[in-house]
Amino acid sequence: TEPLDVERIRRDFPVLEREFDGTPLVYLDNAATSQTPEPVIDSITDYYRRYNANVHRGLHQLSQEASIAYEEAHDRVAEFIGASGGREEIVFTKNTTESMNTVAYAWGLANLEPGDEVVLTEMEHHASLVTWQQLAKKTGAEVKYIQVDDEGYLDMDHARELITDDTAMVSVVHVSNTLGTINPVSDLADLAHDHDSLIFVDGAQSVPHMSVDVEAIDADFFAFSGHKMCGPTGVGVLYGKRHLLEEMQPYLYGGMMISKVTFEDSTWHDLPWKFEAGTPVISQGIALAEACDYLDEIGMDRVEQHGERLAEYAYERLSEFDDVDILGPPGDDRAALVSFNLDTVHAHDVSEILNSHGVAVRAGDHCTQPLHDKLGIPASTRASFYIYNTQEEVDVMVEALADARELFA
Ligand code: PMP
Repeated sequence: TEPLDVERIRRDFPVLEREFDGTPLVYLDNAATSQTPEPVIDSITDYYRRYNANVHRGLHQLSQEASIAYEEAHDRVAEFIGASGGREEIVFTKNTTESMNTVAYAWGLANLEPGDEVVLTEMEHHASLVTWQQLAKKTGAEVKYIQVDDEGYLDMDHARELITDDTAMVSVVHVSNTLGTINPVSDLADLAHDHDSLIFVDGAQSVPHMSVDVEAIDADFFAFSGHKMCGPTGVGVLYGKRHLLEEMQPYLYGGMMISKVTFEDSTWHDLPWKFEAGTPVISQGIALAEACDYLDEIGMDRVEQHGERLAEYAYERLSEFDDVDILGPPGDDRAALVSFNLDTVHAHDVSEILNSHGVAVRAGDHCTQPLHDKLGIPASTRASFYIYNTQEEVDVMVEALADARELFA
């Protein structure tokens, strides 16, 4: 695969021109939110300049233009993740978290009962962990966690033990936002289906970074966020197999999601609109489709290769130091991020020092508190990469760590 022309890509991202007192921005917090390229920014301004209108109901020209663009955005996103059912299998939400809650409430509340088990992993993001944990409390279902081994991989023997005929839902993170582990979601889907369980895959960290085919994985539900894949904030995606979405009752009620309403009762609109109550995320959804075009033009294989090479490089550079502990799998087998700790400096202090060098990283538990507890650490520093990052930027980060040692040791 041809390497990326990073210098050309960088010119598409105006924010990368920022400097702080002459120090250039080194943006390594992409797992939290990626930056936005001109074509996506243009898509948003074009919407507000030319055809801002509410969708679905207006018969006037602007509303028709907005409706067509918004509906076609669902088809574009379906294509991006290999959902052959098109728009009917793609619900636009606010983010991954809302997609997760939609399934928990629309499917889980109706289907889970005492005796049922929901199998998660110890590396779940709070979006999945807290949602299923609380839903289990409401329904009397029990949550079980597939263990993470010492290297940061899922213990698949333990997965085979935990997933049984009592399992009603397996909910797994595709790529860990803390460890960088890429989980064998298709094997887990087979395991789940062997026991008549459904599987929900949290693709918040996979869809931005690799070519994803939800049908090849055989996921029943799949979720991700626009703002981590060059798209805007305020839009997420819930993919669901058509027959499941058809069987499910809506979780939010109101306008747009109905077919016929009387004082006594209501019926629901077609998929996916039945799950998009009220005025939806119009400009954000349209801009997300533009982000899919942008990434596809670069080529998801090259996006993946670039991110993984940077992560491997960062892993190698950080491994040069005895006082650095790196979380998760080896450098040549991880997604585009590296979380680490310095022996003697708290992650928050590390990130503060890095910030003074223009380097944006994340410090904390990355919404995986139970995983950090298990690892016996209060926090970690995470550097996460995307298409516009360079090896030189990794070097800036690694060299700035010397300052942290000096100041805090
Ligand atoms: N799951 C994973 C693996 C994530 O990395 C994130 C974002 N940190 C989420 C879920 C939640 O995404 P959002 O905040 O967009 O709902």
